[in-house]
Amino acid sequence: MQSLQQKVAIVTGASSGIGRAAARLFASEGARVVLGARRRPELDRVVADIEAAGGEAIAVAGDVQDEAHAKALVDTAVGRFGGLDIAFNNAGTMGRMASTSELSREDWTQVIDTNLTGAFLGARHQVPALLERGGGSLIFTSSFVGYTVGIPGVAAYAASKAGLIGLAKTLAVEHGAQGLRANAILPGGADTPMNMVNAPDATQEVRDFVEGLHALKRIASPEEIARAALYLASDASSFVSGSAMLVDGGLSVSRT
Ligand code: NAP
Repeated sequence: MQSLQQKVAIVTGASSGIGRAAARLFASEGARVVLGARRRPELDRVVADIEAAGGEAIAVAGDVQDEAHAKALVDTAVGRFGGLDIAFNNAGTMGRMASTSELSREDWTQVIDTNLTGAFLGARHQVPALLERGGGSLIFTSSFVGYTVGIPGVAAYAASKAGLIGLAKTLAVEHGAQGLRANAILPGGADTPMNMVNAPDATQEVRDFVEGLHALKRIASPEEIARAALYLASDASSFVSGSAMLVDGGLSVSRT
């Protein structure tokens, strides 16, 4: 039996990495999925993959900083698929790396607006639709960065990711009595374009260093993080709410 049968999900950041893997996985588990991101051709490719595998998906291109996009994602879920049960607010950006005193206000705002305000705007429009169907699951992609670990040069990223945990906890208590669950996933390093191991100038030394930070001595595939999102999306996690769930390969407890 598929774990998301009859469910409708929004996945943001679905054009790449963790979001793309989650969109495919949710669809393979029976969900009808609304995919969001800015790059339309990439989204269309993911929709085509899902349809080729027998699933149902639709792409809505836009920027999470734009409230009209947040509304369009929900309107599409309701208008095309009849409602909303799951929202994986996953889109994110690292921003320019620079020590905090050298970050400009624009650097700061761009990251906060995308990672934190974008998720807030998403949730703002998703909550009424989720409640309409009796609750559902809100999931935010936070990070180990800003929670268990500080990393030099990424103040705005760390602050945005820590902020998402506060957002998830608040939503969990605001709407728990109505059956809505809200949680944050805190991935460790994942093998996606965002990770520094995939930067154009990254060396084997960089990869070894990043992998070595994790107790498991490797980074995650996007699919491994997507499986954690599936857990939080599905009834398997029916009593999990307000959690900050580390999916970090033991990075946060590793000292070797
Ligand atoms: P990725 O492959 O670079 O994916 C980032 C996604 O976010 C893309 O689909 C991108 O789509 C979308 N996005 C970025 N800015 C956007 C905007 N303004 N509006 C709409 N969509 C936007 O990286 P990823 O690793 O899968 O990242 C997914 C999430 O995981 C992020 O929140 C990231 O912070 C978090 N995370 C990643 C790691 C890691 O090591 N990779 C670790 C911890 C947490 P478009 O460019 O098409 O808009």
